[in-house]
Amino acid sequence: MIVNNSLDEVKKRESALKIIKEIINDKGRDSLYDVTGLSGGFIASDEELNLLETYVGPAIFEDELQIVGKGHLGGEKVLAVNRTSSGILASILALVKEGDHVSHFLAEFPAHPSIPRSCKIVGASYDEFIDIEKFTIPDNTSLVVVTGSTMDHKVIDEDLFKKVIDMAHEKDIPVLVDDASGARLRTAVFKQKKATELGADLVVTSTDKLMPGPRGGLMAGREDLINEVKIKANQFGLEAQPPLILAMVNGIKNYTEDNLVNAISRKEEFFDLLGKKYEMFEKTPTGVVVSEDSLRNQLDKLNIETELSQKDCCFLWAMILLKDFGIITIPAVGMPGASASIRIDLSTQDVIDMDLNVLYEKIDDSFEKFLKLSQDVEESRELILY
Ligand SMILES: *Cc1c(COP(=O)(O)O)cnc(C)c1O
Repeated sequence: MIVNNSLDEVKKRESALKIIKEIINDKGRDSLYDVTGLSGGFIASDEELNLLETYVGPAIFEDELQIVGKGHLGGEKVLAVNRTSSGILASILALVKEGDHVSHFLAEFPAHPSIPRSCKIVGASYDEFIDIEKFTIPDNTSLVVVTGSTMDHKVIDEDLFKKVIDMAHEKDIPVLVDDASGARLRTAVFKQKKATELGADLVVTSTDKLMPGPRGGLMAGREDLINEVKIKANQFGLEAQPPLILAMVNGIKNYTEDNLVNAISRKEEFFDLLGKKYEMFEKTPTGVVVSEDSLRNQLDKLNIETELSQKDCCFLWAMILLKDFGIITIPAVGMPGASASIRIDLSTQDVIDMDLNVLYEKIDDSFEKFLKLSQDVEESRELILY
C-alpha cells in the first residue's frame, strides 16, 4: 500500500499542490481544469478589500452575511465558521456531552469523518444509518444528524428527511443537517426544500461547494442554538474571520442555480460517451463518478492485475489526471479522510463550456496511462508521493 494513513494522505495532497504550482508556472491557470465542484473562489472588490483594514469592515460584512445567509439557508440567525467541519465540531461541543449519543442518518455511506471524530472528542457514542427501518434514537441521544447530500453527492429522499426530523422532534432532540453540498444540490437539482423549512434546528453548508465562494462553513437555524454554537466556535477559534465572511457574502450573491441545472443534461451526454467504452462510470446529479469498487471491477473486466490497493488505484489515476492532463479531482487534493471516488463535476467554471469530446479524450488517455503505471508500484509511489 502506498497511502496507508492520514500522514500519507497529507503528503499526497502536498504532492498534488506541488504539481498544480508547476502547471501554473509552466503553462498558466488556463491549463488546469478543476472538476471537483469546490471552487474556493474569492470574489471581492478593491473597495471591499480596503474596508477589511479598518474596524468598519467586519461590522458591514457580518451584518450583510446575516441577510444573504438567511436568504440562502433560512433560519433565525446565521453563523460563519472556518469550515463545515468546524461547524460540526462546534455544534457537537455545544450540544453533546460525555456519555451522550449521536444518531446520524444519510443516503449512503461513507459519512463525513468530522461527525464521528467530533463525537469521539466529547466522549459521546455514535451510530450511523442508511436504512430507515434500522434507524434508532436511543434515550441518551442529545443530537440527531442528517446528511442532505453525501461527499459523493448521494442525495437523501425528502420524505425520509422529514421522517427523521419528526422522529427526533418527538423526543425533543435537535437536528443538525450536514448540507455541505446539499443546500444547493438538493434545492437546485432535486427541487427539495431548504433544511430549515423541513424543520431542521441547525444546518451547515460549505461555501465553496457548487457555488463561487471560499472554503468555509455557513450555519443557520434556531437563534438559541446558534448562540450556543457560536460561544464554542469563539472559544476554540473555529469562527470565520472577516476576509472569509466578505468572500462568503459575495459567493452567495453570485450563486445561481443555472450552472447546476445546465450540468444535468450535459451529464447525460457525457455518461453516454463514456459508457461506449467503460462500465465503471456512474451518474451523479451534476456529473459522473468512478467509485473505488467500480474501478476495481473495471480492472477485473480488463483482466488487469495490480499490487496496488483499491484506494491507491484511485489516488494514482487522480494524480495522472492532474499531472498529465491538468484535471483536478478530489482524490488528488482532498484532505485526509476525503472520498477516494474520482468525481467529475460538469457544473464547475473550468469545464462549463468545454466540448465534452475533448474532455472525454483526456479522461480516456489518462486511463490508458493509469493502466500502464499500475503495473509498477515504485513508479506509482513516486507519482503519488511526488
Ligand atoms: C465537504 C463535506 C464536509 C466538510 O467540509 P469541509 O469544508 O472540508 O470542512 C462535511 N460533510 C459533507 C457531506 C461534505 O461533503
